[in-house]
Amino acid sequence: MQMHIDSRLDSLPRSVDVVVVGAGIVGLAAAFFLAKEGLGVAILEKRRRPADLTSARSGEGVRAQWETPDAIALMLRSIELYQRFAELTGREENTAELSRCGYLYAATSARGAIGLADRVARQRANGLSDVSYLTGAEARRRFTTLSETTRGVAFRAGDGTVVVDRIVAGYLAATPARLLTQTLAHGVCVRGGAVEGVETDRGKIATRTCVIAAGPYASALLEPFDGAPPISLVRGQIACFGAEGVPADHPATVDVDNGTFWRPDSTGLRITAPARDAETVATPIDDPRPDVDYPARALAGARRLCPFIAGVAKTAVARAVHCGLYAVTPDGLPAIGPLRTVDGLFVNVGFGGLGVMASIAAGERLAAVISGAGAHDPMSAFAPERFHDGRLLSAEPMTVNHLSGGSAHAPPPASEIEERTG
Ligand SMILES: Cc1cc2nc3c(=O)[nH]c(=O)nc-3n(C[C@H](O)[C@H](O)[C@H](O)COP(=O)(O)OP(=O)(O)OC[C@H]3O[C@@H](n4cnc5c(N)ncnc54)[C@H](O)[C@@H]3O)c2cc1C
Repeated sequence: MQMHIDSRLDSLPRSVDVVVVGAGIVGLAAAFFLAKEGLGVAILEKRRRPADLTSARSGEGVRAQWETPDAIALMLRSIELYQRFAELTGREENTAELSRCGYLYAATSARGAIGLADRVARQRANGLSDVSYLTGAEARRRFTTLSETTRGVAFRAGDGTVVVDRIVAGYLAATPARLLTQTLAHGVCVRGGAVEGVETDRGKIATRTCVIAAGPYASALLEPFDGAPPISLVRGQIACFGAEGVPADHPATVDVDNGTFWRPDSTGLRITAPARDAETVATPIDDPRPDVDYPARALAGARRLCPFIAGVAKTAVARAVHCGLYAVTPDGLPAIGPLRTVDGLFVNVGFGGLGVMASIAAGERLAAVISGAGAHDPMSAFAPERFHDGRLLSAEPMTVNHLSGGSAHAPPPASEIEERTG
């Protein structure tokens, strides 16, 4: 059964089992799995359309190349769910358009290459058995677009890209829930330490369970409650080019020395430019402005590792620069689960640059906890309480793409480098 999309003329439901605040890809995924568990769900969305904020501005990359066992397991599960999205939604026409073009991390610096080799070893030890490290010579033979100066790469063929619009269409077609667009949630009503409703600009909806999935706006809704995950906002951009000469089956590619990400898409390619200093934003806004020089910086950043892009750039046309806000937690991983200070209040927030890839497994996990089919693990890497229980947090390496400047792990002595990078 499909989602019922209300207009403001429809009356507000008086009461539902679960209110989800935010119809981005994270909220929609949670609503899909909650409805699958048989719960009555209303989704509140302040914009006219679902998945029209951060989720519409992503690079659509999905990868299991993470480092901590929990992050690897979550992303492997997401990729598996996206692989069988049509079966999951019961609609043959609704695939996630998962393209397993692979994900390639490459370094031209010795430090970056060694960082990748060590990272692959840690990934394999933590459950990601099918990721490989190739020395520069091996990598250049296999990936002929790489620069002669490439010193080492990490590659996993099972990673790739999805199409957000297709996923959203699948959720809308297969979630028996009410989506209330142009409806702003003002706050969660709590009585006696438990959720009793959600106040909106159209009135109050009674509920015992609320999921905050408000992307960059989550902190405003969670601010009244102790134990809310700390979230900062960082502006992110991606330039989309119409271009000839981009191999359609090229892996999504990251230059770990300068932080550029690029991938082919249906009309050319998309590129995230080398990061300047991360620009944090104090107050969320829907439409942060992109930099005027972003397309030029993006092309320059990408051609360093893949020189053929210099030729592509001659005729490439910048179609759009999408700019949005990454909602980032101190360790770069999302907070998924109950807020221990308020009964019935759940968070699904802080997805940073990984919300497209993680949202489906996160939604499945959260719905299991809310319905009672699964248990919340307070020690998991995603437990919201981790920020407040004195646990030592370390950032998931390469949460941002930049490895050579950002690795927490020291490089080996110079004598090892030549031998290991070929
Ligand atoms: C440039 C860029 C590139 C990226 N590339 C990738 C990538 O390759 N792979 C990947 O996995 N991720 C990527 N991301 C990250 C990904 O886009 C986000 O993590 C993801 O979209 C977050 O989804 P969300 O549903 O939490 O947030 P959003 O999509 O922002 O949705 C939140 C929704 O809540 C609504 N809302 C907020 N407050 C309220 C309220 N009070 N009442 C009602 N509604 C409310 C908003 O209007 C919005 O629709 C990228 C992000 C950017 C900016």
